[in-house]
Amino acid sequence: MSDSEIDLAVNRESLYGTIVEPTYSGVTSFMRRKYTRDLSGVDVAVSGVPYDLATTYRSGARLGPRAIRSISSTLSWEAAVMGWNFDPFDELAVTDYGDCYFDPGRPEQVPDAIYNHAKSILDAGAAMLTLGGDHFISYPLIKAHAEVHGPISLIHFDAHSDTWADEEGRIDYGTMFYHAARDGIIDAENSVQVGMRTYNPDTHGYNVYEAEWVHEHGAAKTVEKIRETVGDRPCYFTFDIDCLDPSFAPGTGTPVVGGLSTAQALRIIRGLGGINLVGMDMVEVAPAYDVSEITALAGATIALNLLCLYARGKKPD
Ligand code: MN
Ligand code: MN
Repeated sequence: MSDSEIDLAVNRESLYGTIVEPTYSGVTSFMRRKYTRDLSGVDVAVSGVPYDLATTYRSGARLGPRAIRSISSTLSWEAAVMGWNFDPFDELAVTDYGDCYFDPGRPEQVPDAIYNHAKSILDAGAAMLTLGGDHFISYPLIKAHAEVHGPISLIHFDAHSDTWADEEGRIDYGTMFYHAARDGIIDAENSVQVGMRTYNPDTHGYNVYEAEWVHEHGAAKTVEKIRETVGDRPCYFTFDIDCLDPSFAPGTGTPVVGGLSTAQALRIIRGLGGINLVGMDMVEVAPAYDVSEITALAGATIALNLLCLYARGKKPD
């Protein structure tokens, strides 16, 4: 190991491959990828949206991107990802684009700031893996994706449906998928919600698989249902970490008991190879409520598995 293999986030030259750096050391980027705003030749830009003012219970997910980047150093030395048995960084040029800038003192400007952040990445031809932030951020992200890919099939893992009806224009982390379906940026009929544990009498057209359904029928059946529903359509995968049981992910704003285990979630994601994934996010990791970084580790690991899923997605015709 030479000095040039330290601080890979700034010193790495190639955008490809995994290079070993001491896990406990150095500048942290997501998975030791190069920290750069340069999007030339980039397949996937990982970025953070450290916004958490749309919560109704406790905030703190603004520190999620930082925590996920930090713990991801413990995952970024292996030659291949367990369960996939390949290294996504051999196939995809992945960079860490840094965080979306917004002025928290001007909350009304935040949705546009996130949308423009996404648009500048997508316009350059890169796909996005976004680290939240609270779940509201998915609305402007999906809006930008729908402009490229048309109405999106959502694969939504969460304890909450986030489809509560409210007035147009509110910034709320529990209502954005109600608006997204009405605005036509999400094709609800061809979308799935997995892991729900809060009762919502109105599905708003989404195909809902509650956590209890997953516990009853298992991962393989859940994979089958997701595949049946989304088919070949362009999919956006949004993973709210509170989909996991609080015993696996205590560090989040709105925990609900009875959730999926990390193993169940990973097994489902690993079963989805070949779907037409066009974008993904990992939201609601709130480090202040975490224990031994287990929530951040779950978030980083699932995000890495989403990258593998993207690499094993439907290839453009
Ligand atoms: Mn949510
Ligand atoms: Mn939730």
